[in-house]
Amino acid sequence: MARRTSRELDCVIIGAGPAGLGTAIALTAIGGLTWTVVERGRIGQTFLDWPAEQRFLTPSFTGNGFGATDLNAVHPMTSPAFSLGVDYPDGPGYARYLGAVAEHFGIAVRSRTEVHRIHAEPRRFRLATSRGALRARTVVWAGGEFGDPGRPTFDGAELGQHASTEPAWAPRKGRVLVIGGYESGIDLACHQIGHGAEVTVVDPEHPWDARQGSDPSFLLAPRTRQRLRTAQQTGRLTLIGTARITELAALDDGRYRARTSTGTELITDSAPIVATGYGSGLGPASPLFARRPDGWPLVDANDESTTTPGVFLAGAGLRHDQLRFCFIYKFRQRFAQVARTVADRLGRDASALEYWRSAGMWTDDLSCCGTECAC
Ligand SMILES: Cc1cc2nc3c(=O)[nH]c(=O)nc-3n(C[C@H](O)[C@H](O)[C@H](O)COP(=O)(O)OP(=O)(O)OC[C@H]3O[C@@H](n4cnc5c(N)ncnc54)[C@H](O)[C@@H]3O)c2cc1C
Repeated sequence: MARRTSRELDCVIIGAGPAGLGTAIALTAIGGLTWTVVERGRIGQTFLDWPAEQRFLTPSFTGNGFGATDLNAVHPMTSPAFSLGVDYPDGPGYARYLGAVAEHFGIAVRSRTEVHRIHAEPRRFRLATSRGALRARTVVWAGGEFGDPGRPTFDGAELGQHASTEPAWAPRKGRVLVIGGYESGIDLACHQIGHGAEVTVVDPEHPWDARQGSDPSFLLAPRTRQRLRTAQQTGRLTLIGTARITELAALDDGRYRARTSTGTELITDSAPIVATGYGSGLGPASPLFARRPDGWPLVDANDESTTTPGVFLAGAGLRHDQLRFCFIYKFRQRFAQVARTVADRLGRDASALEYWRSAGMWTDDLSCCGTECAC
């Protein structure tokens, strides 16, 4: 169990979401380490902040005993489906699961403690937090993406309501525009159609048509595709995949006008919904990472910053070449990798982590991740 101490710690983990807690549990396998988890809100704060209607799109199912750990679990001996009794958890439910996991594994979390700055000093880090300073030899950034909503840059974009906010989910009638057609956009379109709205989704990448490959990071989830088919059958859903929105304006009568790159005008009866994703959300860790050409943080084979040794990245912002670790079942494969690298750096025995490998929750050879399904 982590010991609370004001002296220099071996590791500070920032964020008590699935990535931070999962990494912390992996660290418990290494004896004698001092570390802590720092969280600006409460355990699972992102899930507590999810709009009330938001649910998981990755299903939970307790296949653990047969080597198929629940997709949303952060440790092979746990299963949200088992503890919550649902297959698509909502935000508060999943936060409850995370709280139970933290309690079971004795993970001490310093809640209501926000990290404002991380200073890299020779062989150590000094963290300025809302509750005083911390010193550590290594740092794991697990601050998540939810606090970094991606916003388009066209004129009037600020009039849109981001998919991460409650107003985007408030039931609407009349004509609704959704900008962005990947998971969040289609989720919201189906949701508003369920409330009787007439919805237009605009996305020049037309993700709803993607059929290439079998990686769910590039395809709509089966549940989303199923809901999309039902929404299309209402005749109240229009998908525009040949244009992008170039301008939004508020009209005097309370309606909104959107212009597209092909010159079409769309009039909507409520503020357009912006479902254009999230950034990498590095927050105060941002200066400690170089960026890939696509803007995502650059890490080495151990998920360690290429510019600041001793700083690691855990969570949905993780990228290796073409691989996106944007789901729990993907990024959890790296908890043991980070824990082992921290242990190696500090000269500690990490052999107990082999349990994670035998439980199928440690991938260190990433060349195996690209397998395509034959049918
Ligand atoms: C709308 C939405 C739906 C999603 N659905 C799924 C899904 O169905 N399945 C799936 O696998 N993935 C899903 N994802 C991806 C998803 O983000 C994650 O799987 C998960 O939340 C990422 O976990 P995390 O621990 O990296 O980040 P988070 O869960 O966001 O946890 C980060 C924590 O860090 C804290 N924090 C941030 N900054 C600081 C700071 N400066 N100081 C202290 N604490 C800080 C936050 O308060 C938060 O509690 C979804 C994402 C979104 C946005």
